Amino acid sequence: MLERIRIVLIGTSHPGNIGGVARAMHNMGLADLALVAPRCEVITADCVSRASGADALVHSARKTSTLEDAVADCTLVVGASARSRTLPWPMITPRALGERLPDELSGTASRVALVFGREDSGLSNDELQRCHAHVHIPTNPDFSSLNLAAAVQVLAYECRLAWLDAENRALSRPLAASDDDNTQSNDLAPASHQELESYFSHLERTLITIGFHDPAVPRQLMARLRRFTLRARPERLELNILRGILTATERQTMNNVPSPQDKARHRSDEPH
Ligand code: SAH
Repeated sequence: MLERIRIVLIGTSHPGNIGGVARAMHNMGLADLALVAPRCEVITADCVSRASGADALVHSARKTSTLEDAVADCTLVVGASARSRTLPWPMITPRALGERLPDELSGTASRVALVFGREDSGLSNDELQRCHAHVHIPTNPDFSSLNLAAAVQVLAYECRLAWLDAENRALSRPLAASDDDNTQSNDLAPASHQELESYFSHLERTLITIGFHDPAVPRQLMARLRRFTLRARPERLELNILRGILTATERQTMNNVPSPQDKARHRSDEPH
């Protein structure tokens, strides 16, 4: 389970923090680190020293320029946020997040990303709106922001506790007739981030085509639709149905666009 949890750091500016994150992860048995557009040189003396022997995680970290690329294959994306934002999003506590993980990661293709923001400005609204849920570590409201590596430590600890708990439960469970119950069919697996993002692009395109959405006056329409869809955790089959509806809508709209011949016919029908 732990090997399928990815820690994603966006726009980190202190190499020491990256080292500190690697140490926190290694202590808790996590190994999958992704660095999105770091704003500093990554492997420095400070990074290696703060990693205290866990710098292999930094060397093997995947480096991407966008959040999209870092979490494309993830089926659950959770953003860690020190403060609440304008459009409230589903919130989950660190403990509840951990408790959800064993189920969440039971499918063979499932992968969870925990996304952390910049030291100075956290995660942008756009980044937060790409997450299924937000997790807030309860802190003193007057001093709510933890050091980046400390925030990773707290969430990684919750992941480990949940994993230990699941292991213990598995050991004490009588042998089941078959463990195949856990294998999710491909259609029933939750849609990945990439599949969701292409659905959102398709949805936005269609809503513009049918005149329902004006990108010049967005009124948080796409953000609200994102929140609604992400909250529902659609399965791949369900997302395919929605995409099919969009394609049919687009096709219908195209059919309704009068062809030049239609226009000419209508013109000749008009009274002179
Ligand atoms: N100054 C920034 C916070 C930066 S701390 C702000 O006001 O948003 C760097 C990152 O650590 C944050 O983006 C967040 O991902 C994580 N973090 C810090 N404190 C946290 C908390 N209390 N709960 C959840 N995540 C937290």
